[in-house]
Formats: sequence, C-alpha cells, structure tokens
Amino acid sequence: MQPNDNKTHWHHGQGHWAHIPPAQWNNWTWQYRHRITTPAQAQTHLTLTPEEHAGCQQAPTRLALAITPHYFNLIDPNDPHCPIRRQIIPRIEETHTTPDEHTDPIGEETTTPIPGLVHRYPDRVLLLLTSNCAAYCRYCTRSRLVSNAQAYNFQPQHQAALHYIRTHSQIRDVLLSGGDPLLLTEHTLDTLLTQLRAIPHIEIIRIGTRIPVFMPQRITPALCATLRKHGPIWMNIHVNHPRECTLELDHALKQLTQADVHLGNQSVLLRGVNDDLPTLRSLLHRLLMMRVRPYYLYACDKVKGTAHLRVPIEKGIELIHQLRGHTTGQAIPQYVIDAPGGGGKIPINPDYIDHWTLTGPILRNYQGKTYPYTNT
Ligand SMILES: *Cc1c(COP(=O)(O)O)cnc(C)c1O
Repeated sequence: MQPNDNKTHWHHGQGHWAHIPPAQWNNWTWQYRHRITTPAQAQTHLTLTPEEHAGCQQAPTRLALAITPHYFNLIDPNDPHCPIRRQIIPRIEETHTTPDEHTDPIGEETTTPIPGLVHRYPDRVLLLLTSNCAAYCRYCTRSRLVSNAQAYNFQPQHQAALHYIRTHSQIRDVLLSGGDPLLLTEHTLDTLLTQLRAIPHIEIIRIGTRIPVFMPQRITPALCATLRKHGPIWMNIHVNHPRECTLELDHALKQLTQADVHLGNQSVLLRGVNDDLPTLRSLLHRLLMMRVRPYYLYACDKVKGTAHLRVPIEKGIELIHQLRGHTTGQAIPQYVIDAPGGGGKIPINPDYIDHWTLTGPILRNYQGKTYPYTNT
C-alpha cells in the first residue's frame, strides 16, 4: 500500500510487539511503560543511522527520547527517510543552531503571569498542565520545559492558575495543553473541568493533545465519560502524516465524537514529512474521513536545533494555493506563523486580490483567471 492511498487506513496492529497479549497491548499504561527511551531499545527494531545515533546521545540534555510502541510501529525500519522517523528519532542536526532560534521561540515566558498560564490574547488563556507527553516530537515548541531534559523544573500551579482565571472575567476560553493533558488521571481532569465549568465567564474549554496519535489506547470509556460530563469540549489533535491515520486512531476519534468532543487538527509543516502536495492532501482528506476538521497548519517554530525540519514560508503558501479550489474547502487548514517574540498567530494566505481599481478589487480565482468585483 502506498502511504498516499486514501482508501484504506494503515493498520499496524502489534507489529514488533506481536507476542504481547492484546489485553496488555490495548492498555495505555502498558504502552506508556514500554516506551522506547534509549538508542539501544530502538536498535532492537531498526538500524539507527550515524546521524540518529549521535542525536540520541545528546537527547537527554535537549528533549528526551520517548516513543510509544504504537507509534514506533508506524516507522518503516527500512527507510532512513521515513516521515514518522523524522518526527520522533533525534538527529545530530538538533545540536546545530542558528542565531534566530530560541528556547522560547514564540515568547510565551513574556506573557506568563502564573507558572503554566500563558495569557497572550485578551479573552483566552493557554493552561499548561504538565510537562510530560506520551512521546516527544523533535520540533517541540516547548522543548525548553517538556520532558525536563533542560532542567527547567516546570511546576504548574493549577490552583493559582484557576484563581487567576476566576478573577479575570475577560477570559472566556481556556485551552488545556502542556505537555499532554490527557496524561492526567480522570480524577484530576474531572476536578479541573468541574472547577473551570463553575466559573461563570468561561464559555469554551479546549484541549490540545497528541495522545490519540501516540497512544490511542488512552481514549478509554472512563476518559470519554469524564469529558462528556463537562462537554462540549473542543479538542485539537496533532496529526502530521497520513500514515498516522491508523484504525486505532479512527476508533479513538469515534469514541471522542460520541462523548461530545468536537475535533480539529493542528499540523506542523515539516521538511521531509508532509511538505509535498500528495502527502499533505492525503492527510487532510483522511482527517475529514475520521471526523476531524483541519484547523491550523503551522510553520515550524524557530526552536533551537530544528532548521533541518523547517520549510520556507513561500513553499507553505504554494501548498495552500494548490489545495484551494482543488479539494473540499473544509479540508483546508489556515496556514499560520506563531510570530517570534510573542506576537501570536498570524494567518498566511495566497493572494487572491490581483490589484485594486477605483471601483473595487480585481480578484484571481484558483485557476489564475481574473474577475473584477465592483463595490457599488
Ligand atoms: C494558540 C494560542 C491560543 C489559541 O489561539 P486560537 O487562535 O484561538 O486557537 C491562545 N493562547 C495562546 C498563548 C496560544 O498560543
């Protein structure tokens, strides 16, 4: 099967772990406890290249190596350029930094009144609940604190953050993130969601998570019941490549949908992962087929040691241009740059206004044909 084949979901099942009883494989705590965290463990299933081997040696001081068995199975062990591999296995290029790269690339620290609470926009806040994830994306925006490899010693203060939200009535939208908030227990999530729902000015609760991709086993009936109790919840997942659209993910998303969770996706445009039209289009189509509305496509933040994964902005614009008009409108995400220095998300679009006349714009359609529109 080709990775761009739209008709069938990839199904890897137990792969390298075929000998594990399904009851254990399907238990998320088993997945979490059996993560690949050392180069030696990775080498039992594939041959690391010299660049990867050297990358793994430095990972403990930059961003930990951790890959769930479910996600590891998506790697093609015979392809050194595998797009799953590029996202998750450290490379020596992570030690190469350019002057415009930062540990805090989007200036979150400048708008953090309470540890873990980022208040950049007037009416909504980002609440970082934990520094742990099921697996670590090598381009992580928050690699400064996530996995604690850089000794940041993140200490989220949930109650202080809730107090801040309670006492700032302009906040109407809370976005739970981290780290991955779905690593918290149902009990902790239930307590937090109960407290948030008790605040009269909170209208919207959102969750940002990559758990359904890394560890779909975490989407248990108990978790779904907790989320449903506090619904509607808006959830953005993070899928970057069509191969991540497994039957297991599809099943998890169906459970979430039935629990009053409304699904969007945030992808990062990454060199050698999803920066070609057939791959990106296939990803977006599969997301819709799995009930997920593509939300943002991010330019990769300028995190230290990620130049090898970044894509020129003009390439991203060209990809959006090649999608618009050629596929389902709902499949097309908004391409954004989260501005360095804390400016927030800035939408980047192809230009559909050719030029202006005194009576209005001359528009250009998806085929490049021009059409005048008069304001009168
Ligand atoms: C991305 C982000 C949000 C949410 O932005 P939306 O455009 O509303 O999805 C809120 N706060 C911070 C700090 C963010 O980075």
